[in-house]
Amino acid sequence: MVIHDIVIIGAGLAGMRAAIEASRAGLDAAIVSKIYPVRSHSVAAQGGINAALKDTDSWESHAFDTVKGSDYLGDQDAIETLCREAPFDIMELEKMGAIFSRDPEGRIAQRPFGGAGYPRTCYLADRTGHALLHVMYEQLIKHDVVLYDEWHVVKIVVEDGRARGVIAQELSTGKLHRLHSKAVLVATGGYGRVFKTTTNALSSTGDGMGLALDAGAELMDMEFVQFHPTVLKRTGILMTEGCRGEGGYLVNSRGERFMSKYAPNVLELASRDVVSRAEQTEIEEGRGVDGCVLLDLRHLGADKIKERLPQIRSLAINFAGVDPIEAPIPVKPGAHYSMGGIRTDLNGATTVPGLYAAGECACVSTHGANRLGGNSLLEAIVFGRRAGTGLVSFCDSNGLLPFPDAALKDAAHEVADIIKRDGGESPAALREEMAGVMVDHSSVFRDRTRLTLGLGKLRDIKERYKSVALTDRGDYYNNELLHVLELGQMLKIAEAILIGAIEREESRGSHFRTDFPLRNDKDWMKHTIVSLKDGEMRIGYKPVTVTRFQPQERKY
Ligand SMILES: Cc1cc2nc3c(=O)[nH]c(=O)nc-3n(C[C@H](O)[C@H](O)[C@H](O)COP(=O)(O)OP(=O)(O)OC[C@H]3O[C@@H](n4cnc5c(N)ncnc54)[C@H](O)[C@@H]3O)c2cc1C
Repeated sequence: MVIHDIVIIGAGLAGMRAAIEASRAGLDAAIVSKIYPVRSHSVAAQGGINAALKDTDSWESHAFDTVKGSDYLGDQDAIETLCREAPFDIMELEKMGAIFSRDPEGRIAQRPFGGAGYPRTCYLADRTGHALLHVMYEQLIKHDVVLYDEWHVVKIVVEDGRARGVIAQELSTGKLHRLHSKAVLVATGGYGRVFKTTTNALSSTGDGMGLALDAGAELMDMEFVQFHPTVLKRTGILMTEGCRGEGGYLVNSRGERFMSKYAPNVLELASRDVVSRAEQTEIEEGRGVDGCVLLDLRHLGADKIKERLPQIRSLAINFAGVDPIEAPIPVKPGAHYSMGGIRTDLNGATTVPGLYAAGECACVSTHGANRLGGNSLLEAIVFGRRAGTGLVSFCDSNGLLPFPDAALKDAAHEVADIIKRDGGESPAALREEMAGVMVDHSSVFRDRTRLTLGLGKLRDIKERYKSVALTDRGDYYNNELLHVLELGQMLKIAEAILIGAIEREESRGSHFRTDFPLRNDKDWMKHTIVSLKDGEMRIGYKPVTVTRFQPQERKY
């Protein structure tokens, strides 16, 4: 057994930022990551990170745009914190060594992004996440944070209502280990892989949300899944919102810039939920091109495309055979981001003492019903740092409690049970089936019949999951076993999404119910909460915190 002050699950921006903060305050922090740290999905972020840096901008405007973007479901105390602290964190990143693209005066350049009333997205070309994650990794090394690379957490250990560490499997040997700590931070990122068409990495399977739910924590607003409007045909690879921020157009099969019908003021730069619904409508009404619409960058010219969007160009060439300098890129909506997640307070604390969460897996909630582009890297940094501080004060007043003897044995039994099964269902086929059900039944447009049917199919898959059998029974890098355990978590997430989506009889942000097409503030200005009781999911509610912005109709 190894002992640390805190164990952090996840080496994305949120986990790394928390570790640095805790380590600066003298804590012994360890990070466990199922993939090599710099492969965490944060590395794939393209378009940028928001902050009101200029005199002509203000954190209050950033907060208003975020509240409006959230369709008034975001908690305004959390949004104010995010936007007020953003400039400080950008400067911190610069001091750590982050390189941002510059404007002609040499200041950090900022580009326009969807739903933002001011160009406030800082970026490094279209590789912002790559730049930030590598800088953060250097800082981890500098601060002597202990890293358990390619270790997969299978359980958060909670006894008498307090988190006491985790059980993790070392993927290179198959061995299970106990990591004992005063507190645990979940920073495991999103669950995009629950859907068939997604921009997310293979590793984005929502593990931490499932683990936290089992540990007694609550999930909030799970029905809100962001469908990004510009994902590449077939593969689902993201074409950053920066394409539209730099001036790209969306056109239908008739060559019309159709956004003029849906968002007459800001066109392609409306919020993502609005643009995704517009695209889906064009496609369903027969004005699509082979199930897609077209993202046209040609008028930007070769120089700008090569300077500002080099990665987009190479992805489009390599994965769709289209050079955006010469031809428009076929795109459609795809699952991109989890607005919902583990419910936390402003310092990352969940409802379970000693258990914290930050980053995409958490729900503070800054994004409400729809996240603005560029606010998620920011959330990972601001609330990662704040969770680090929260963990420091928790550890100041709480010592190490004994690690329960049974925890390792129980986890070993569960794994052995899967390994010894014979002749059951194929886990890969079941994973495909689940991801298909979610796309078919819980996508951009939803209604009660489709959702209920989806939940029935999902529960059937959940039953069949109990009999999945492996073809690989080896110990070393048994990826099949890893995928089975991930599937177990994804099935919980998928169920929570569907339950929330059935429950919420209104349309708000990313959640659009064709049978309840209007937002209903009278009955639904509230968060949905999912928790486990005797193994069953229960739904509850929590009011939205409103500080300065009263709900208004949302128009772009
Ligand atoms: C293609 C793409 C582009 C994006 N572009 C932008 C952008 O331009 N601007 C913006 O603001 N946002 C963007 N986002 C969103 C943003 O990148 C993410 O929300 C954010 O980076 C998430 O960071 P994180 O630290 O929460 O998690 P991640 O970076 O996803 O890291 C998760 C970590 O958890 C670990 N982990 C998970 N499960 C386990 C387990 N069971 N055991 C051990 N370790 C585990 C993984 O190994 C990994 O280290 C983009 C997202 C995508 C997919």
